[in-house]
Amino acid sequence: MTDTINLTGSPLNDNLHLVDFDKATPETLQALTEQALHAASCQLDNIEARQDTPDVATAFAIISSFDDATAQIWRHFGILSHLNSVASTDDIRHAHHALLPKLSAFGTRTGQSTALYQLYQLVHDEFDKLPDELRHDAQKRAINKGLQEFVLSGVALDDEKKSKFAAIESQLSVSCAKFADNIMDATYHFARPLKQDELSGISSNGLALLKAAGDAYRAKNPNASLPSDYVATLDMPCYLAVMEFADNRALREQLYHAYNTRASDQSPDTTEFDNADLMVEILTLRKQKAELLGMSNYSEYSLATKMADSSAEIEQFLLQLSAAAKPKAIAELAELEQAAKKFGLDKLQAWDIAYLSQKIRQEKFNLSSDALRPYFPLPVVLDGLFDICKSLFGIRFVQADKAHFSAWHDDVLFYTLYDDDSDTLLGGVYLDLFARAGKQGGAWLDDFQKRQIKDGNTRLPVCFIVGNFAPPLGDKPSLLSFDEVNTLFHEFGHALHHLLTQIDVAAIAGINGVEWDAVELPSQFMENFAITDVGIGKISRHIDSGETLPADKKDALIAAKNFQTGLQTLRQMEFGLFDLRLHSQQSDTSLSYQDILQTANTIRDEIAVITPPAYQRMGNGFSHIFAGGYAAGYYSYIWAEVLSADAFGKFEEDGIYNAKTGRAFRQEILAQGSLRDAKDNYLAFRGRAATTDALLRHRGLVE
Ligand SMILES: [Zn+2]
Repeated sequence: MTDTINLTGSPLNDNLHLVDFDKATPETLQALTEQALHAASCQLDNIEARQDTPDVATAFAIISSFDDATAQIWRHFGILSHLNSVASTDDIRHAHHALLPKLSAFGTRTGQSTALYQLYQLVHDEFDKLPDELRHDAQKRAINKGLQEFVLSGVALDDEKKSKFAAIESQLSVSCAKFADNIMDATYHFARPLKQDELSGISSNGLALLKAAGDAYRAKNPNASLPSDYVATLDMPCYLAVMEFADNRALREQLYHAYNTRASDQSPDTTEFDNADLMVEILTLRKQKAELLGMSNYSEYSLATKMADSSAEIEQFLLQLSAAAKPKAIAELAELEQAAKKFGLDKLQAWDIAYLSQKIRQEKFNLSSDALRPYFPLPVVLDGLFDICKSLFGIRFVQADKAHFSAWHDDVLFYTLYDDDSDTLLGGVYLDLFARAGKQGGAWLDDFQKRQIKDGNTRLPVCFIVGNFAPPLGDKPSLLSFDEVNTLFHEFGHALHHLLTQIDVAAIAGINGVEWDAVELPSQFMENFAITDVGIGKISRHIDSGETLPADKKDALIAAKNFQTGLQTLRQMEFGLFDLRLHSQQSDTSLSYQDILQTANTIRDEIAVITPPAYQRMGNGFSHIFAGGYAAGYYSYIWAEVLSADAFGKFEEDGIYNAKTGRAFRQEILAQGSLRDAKDNYLAFRGRAATTDALLRHRGLVE
């Protein structure tokens, strides 16, 4: 099959196999995905029609060829799926969604194919008879992981149950996508034109964002008469510009209400995108899926491939951390209540918290998140980050000329990555960092192309880093808040995990196959390097004066690291327990929407110190667990932070930029893919298992 969307004629290395996004239209991608689906399905037909039992080398060759065929599907669909997340249009969404049931059906058919499973089994049993060049650990591990996937896809079920399982998978893929659509549609549906006298308190950076939203509003509604040039929206930078700084309390309340009821029947803006029924449906389907496999609930299914052993173990872990965080959270709440009094607010309300927190931060540390932005222009932060990566891991990022790659939007940058010692090209990364309409909220890494060296052909890893940072305004570069700096370091940690792999078998290269609750180790680990004395020196340079962040501000920033970590920890535990309990239900009947709300309330009563308004519908916007990969897995962030904090502890002991320790982290963790269990990677790096001591210390939860 010819791949019509490969970028040709670019001086960037061929092994990167870059995509020509100018040719990657939704129609082309849909057609290429369907073509690849057809080709792979034909191969599977042939596998299932075989009457003989092949020798082990032949069995391996069949599996390998089928792997290549399926990789073609995911390559083309991966591009479409990426575009649907970053530059969604009706055409893209339509093409993307039209493929979901077909892909799900193919995925289920593959996972349940007894003939294919038997080939894997044969290779597994007679692995020692394979030719030398194939008989290595990575290949063996990939076969073992493959076998586990078959079992979790229901290969052992009878035909009736198999088709039930397939129907569930198909419905889930559609419903989860719809859940995410509803959040995006609800978010962009809301627009609140602002009066001039509602702008008081909002920073100049915030005003510029609200003005840009106003321009977009005018372009969409040319006949609308606006009371000012400014419009508030619910995309994160705009939302925070109001919630953190607007003096107008009624305005904050309105925005809070709209944001925290998105995609629910409580939304004052629209109830058109209510996710309630989808939540019930998704939970029910997941439970049925687990039960078909003989498990008692979805948590059991989810944990089969994770580092944690049982939901009871996780529940206990989350409750312990909640207890550890509670005293600090109570003190932080008291501080907020005091501030409320000081600002003449009768009673502290949910929509005052971000606002008063900024005031307290300002008073305590003389730090306002917006006032620091001029010190963190994006190009400076990136240079500093690359410098840190260079000294820790011996690697070099090189920005590509815009003429040498193509992208889906003008904002997009591309970097190649080299090993500094050997000057070897290791991979490449696209950066698409600014908030805009048609892009999903939040920040993430998409490990688009996995490393693979096979039959003499090399495919280097390539990934996308996506963010929703404040865009550049006028002729100035984007000026990042420290939260955004932190997010950038986080996503780069994921990227390094993907790009620095030395595993040549795609199925277990980079992040692929790594236990989900260990995936956030490299990302959270990297965050630590932004907030050190030297780190801040490397990533800050004032946009006008060119000075690095002054010592008093730097000290304040470091001191402010643990500002409100008690409340933040409790909130994170609340989300983690909510997810875990929704997916760990033992009862035969499925949960109703009321049960879901009740679960959230019960957990809040158990551990939280702040009670939000009764209309708040956090679950309806919780895409991590209803639309993303975090179902019965939200705890993974804090689970992995135990590892990342303890790993950084090693650098605290050896010296923050200790090159030897940095190279060891690269070698034992970043390079390993899922060749070993995450637990063994960690042991190899640290020489012992992780403890929670460093996490509690880093979050300021112990004296
Ligand atoms: Zn992450």
